[in-house]
This record gives sequence, C-alpha cells and structure tokens, in this order.
Amino acid sequence: MLYGPRDVRFEERPDPTIIEPTDALISLPITCVCGSDLWPYRGIAPIDGPTPMGHEYVGIVEEVGSEVRLIEPGQFVVGSFFASDNTCEICRAGYHSSCVNRQPGAPTGSQAEYARIPLADGTLVATPGMPPEDMIPSLLAASDVLGTGWFGAVAAEAAPGKTVAVVGDGAVGLLAVLAAKQLGADRIIAMSRHESRQNLAREFGATDIVSERGEDGAARIKEMTGGLGAHSVVEAVGTQESMMQAIRATRPGGHVGFVGVLHDVEIPGEEFFFSHVHLHGGPAPVRRFLPELIELIWERKIDPGKVFDLTLPLEEVAEGYRAMDERRAIKTLLRP
Ligand SMILES: [Zn+2]
Repeated sequence: MLYGPRDVRFEERPDPTIIEPTDALISLPITCVCGSDLWPYRGIAPIDGPTPMGHEYVGIVEEVGSEVRLIEPGQFVVGSFFASDNTCEICRAGYHSSCVNRQPGAPTGSQAEYARIPLADGTLVATPGMPPEDMIPSLLAASDVLGTGWFGAVAAEAAPGKTVAVVGDGAVGLLAVLAAKQLGADRIIAMSRHESRQNLAREFGATDIVSERGEDGAARIKEMTGGLGAHSVVEAVGTQESMMQAIRATRPGGHVGFVGVLHDVEIPGEEFFFSHVHLHGGPAPVRRFLPELIELIWERKIDPGKVFDLTLPLEEVAEGYRAMDERRAIKTLLRP
C-alpha cells in the first residue's frame, strides 16, 4: 500500500473476492514493481489516500465469475494493466488499452498474493500449460514492460533495413531493444550511461551504445546516421528532455514510438510541423501482443525476465521501491 510520497507499507489486507460475474480471481506466484509506480511513489502523480499498488501480474486462476466462459480455474494466465473486453471495435483494431469498457487490470493491486481481474475473458491469456518456475519472470515481464517496449518498437516501425534508437534504459527501454531485434532491425542504438544496463542492452540485441543525452544525444544519433537521424526511435522515459531527444534524433519521414508516460511535456508546434516525424504511442495495448509474446517465451526464443535484477520477499516491498528509485535496481521482483 502506498500511503504518500516514499511511504510504501506491507500490510495484511482482506483477500479480494469476485464482484462482477465477468471477474476472475488469481493467485500470484511472484509480482513486481514498475517504473511507472515511481511516479506516485515520488509524489509526482498524486494519490487519493492509501492506495493498493501493482498492475503487472501473472498467476493461477483460483475462481471465476458466473459469466466467464473462456478462462477456467487452474489455468496459468497473463494479463495487463488495463482490463479490456477484446470484442469492441477498438479492441478488434488492436487498441485494447482504449477499450470502450477499459478499467484497471488489477484494481485490488497486484503487489499481493491474490488479485481480482475484471473482464477475465477479454483480459487474460492462458499459457499452453503450467510454466516451469524459471520461465515465470519472463511471463510477468510480458504483462507490462515487454508488452510496452514491444509496442514502442512497433509504433516506431522497427523493421529490417532500419536503424532504431531507444531513449531510456529502464526495463521498458531495454525490452524495446529486444523487440527491435525480434522485429529484424539492422542497427539498434541503446542510449544509456549505466554499464550494467548497457551490457543488458547488448545482450538483448543493441549494436551501439550512446551515452550522451538531450541535445547531445540527438546530435550523436544524427552523426551516426549520415546526418539524417534514425528511422525509428522509441521514447521510454516521458520527460520533456527525453521526448525532444527522441523527436530530434528521428529523420524526416521516420517514426517515434513513445511509451514513457508523458509528464508535463510540451511539443513546440512549429518545430514539429517542419520535422516530418510521425508520433505514435500512449498506453501500450499489451493485450494485442500477449499471444505472440507468450509463444516466444514458451519456446524460449526470448528471455525478457533478465530485467529483474533484484528479488525480495513481498514484506520488503519498501526496499524494492527504494532500490528502483535510487536506480540501484532496474526492476524488483517480489515473492509473496
Ligand atoms: Zn474493447
């Protein structure tokens, strides 16, 4: 539970129950802290009283409501941070995170042993069977950071023949590197100043590392691309500096996929008009990509769970937030 800025507490709470007939209840073998949890943690995104935290989840279905048809108790499932019906026009177009029936994916908070998941049939995707224990962190990564990095790379139109630059070396940025590699990009430039994150970026497929940021970072990308800029840039931070760095590092006709939650960002209209850069992003429709991502993980073609570099018991959740806030950890895994 988050009580206020930098005040996360582990406490006993009543187990969630089925409320709507379309709900499922899941038990979570592991859970985690998200970079976006740091916005309310730092007091930048205000909260309205004590708030249950966590929106990334995988788990075993314990119980389903009377109208759930596709999801059954005993299945291992992956969902995402928004619940969606998977049937409306917006979902069918692949934009589940703007579903007409959109609601929080884990309203009871998923940094917990149990969670209630609304619209279970539309939101949850079952794995082919019970996953081996070492695969579960990668499935948990698919729930948000992998799905979000993947959307960033898709929105930036990463593809064979292209140079992709990634702004941001958090879990989402690192997994956007992995996604760009899977999507066949020729050259992948990770922008990072931290050695351990640079190493992971290389492991995920980065061909080049750029440590400059802001204006200097954009200039460096242009220098490396014959003065033109990258074809595709993924923005995975969400600040004024990082967004402008992404736009300015992109060549005319190129694409920015922005997936860092934007906070107080203003894009100068005239500069943008003359840039000829496509901008596409927003809250990632992770549900669109889940079947494909689960398959890649199941076949052990990708191992996105490597972004978890700190594991703690759920009771020590406060230290998990602190470590990420101080950038001592890329992403904290919690064991209930
Ligand atoms: Zn929908």
